[in-house]
Amino acid sequence: MMSHGYKPELSVGSIKCPIFQTSTFEFETAQEGKRFFEMAYGHRKPAPNEEMGLIYSRINNPDLEILENRLCLWDEAEDAAVFESGMSAISTVLLEFLNPGDVLLMSSPVYGGTDHFSKSVLNRFQIELVEFSATDDPESIHERLRASGKSDRLAMVYVETPANPTNTMIDLDAISALARQYDSADRKVVVAVDNTYMGPLWQHPLKHGADLVIYSATKYIGGHSDLIAGAVLGKREEMTRVKTLRTFLGNMTSPYTGWLLMRSLETLKVRMEQQASNAEKIAEFLHAHPAVEQVYYPGIQRRNDPQLDALMQRQCKSNGAMIAFDVVGGEKEAFALLNSFKLVKLAVSLGSTESLAQHPATMTHVDVSPEDKRKMNISEKLVRLSVGIENVDDLIWDLEQALSAIGAPEVQDAELEAQR
Ligand SMILES: *Cc1c(COP(=O)(O)O)cnc(C)c1O
Repeated sequence: MMSHGYKPELSVGSIKCPIFQTSTFEFETAQEGKRFFEMAYGHRKPAPNEEMGLIYSRINNPDLEILENRLCLWDEAEDAAVFESGMSAISTVLLEFLNPGDVLLMSSPVYGGTDHFSKSVLNRFQIELVEFSATDDPESIHERLRASGKSDRLAMVYVETPANPTNTMIDLDAISALARQYDSADRKVVVAVDNTYMGPLWQHPLKHGADLVIYSATKYIGGHSDLIAGAVLGKREEMTRVKTLRTFLGNMTSPYTGWLLMRSLETLKVRMEQQASNAEKIAEFLHAHPAVEQVYYPGIQRRNDPQLDALMQRQCKSNGAMIAFDVVGGEKEAFALLNSFKLVKLAVSLGSTESLAQHPATMTHVDVSPEDKRKMNISEKLVRLSVGIENVDDLIWDLEQALSAIGAPEVQDAELEAQR
């Protein structure tokens, strides 16, 4: 992550890759400009040893290219594309691989923006959504597809695992095998996985049959709550299509954001490992606390669930750093807890150096239907915690004092009102 893909001699010996804050690049000759454009527009394939040159920052830029080469290493992908947000990565993939009349099979719940895009935007292009719950087995997913009467139009399977906020795991090998059964002679069903929650260290969907891995790089990859970005990775063939649509939507990251992400990548492993180690200890603490009813964290849940344990061993290298838990009580008690934190920040987003807590039922998942909320255990008493890299004893101290404040919610409300 420090040196891959960067040659200091091309940048006056600069140890770090500079910010190439430029819109366009000078060609040495007109013939060179002609060659670059032929390759950029796919009019001909590069000759052996012929490298694509720099043209224009919407098409290519060194900060983006080096960042993309480094991102490929974690997932062992052939190519990557970085975007100005996770949502632009997701919407570009959906638009590139779906056509009017197609069916999109999607796990539920997914990120709120993804949910909105597939229900309220894709439907304008006659793209039909078939949803399955993260807890459904493959047979009932087949059944849903058959019931739609359009299983022959299945074009994409889109999965988010672990499902946010309750960490429900989906078996990627099983989902990829399911997709293969709907391939036809003239087209392959594309399997896309939003890997924001576990990646790029802890889960590698391409190794479990996925065609595309998607990230909100705003989360672990950026990791400092100071930028918005996204990434897509996969095989050369699919990525050429993703990058071509990106060129024409113009939703690539800026050189400065690319540079910030490269800086973040240098500490990605140490940050994520510290976050996971803190999360293990915090989950134990919450599990033992009388004001906590239930903890949704694979490290706790897999102990009494051999099937989950086997899946985690096959698919994930860690239990992650996202914990959801039910407090004893309801919204009032959950809010009392959230209002009492002194170190943990009350904010959405995740995967950052500082710990963040929020209330999914009224915040990130407010748009989920009451029925789906019930199915996914997204209740009024649920709190989601993204564990940061702080001293774990400080975090446990903060949780302890905030949990003890639940006892006096009325005083809490009155005090807060008075402060306002
Ligand atoms: C945040 C998030 C997104 C959206 O990413 P942005 O960078 O905010 O556009 C998509 N999927 C998941 C799982 C996320 O957490």
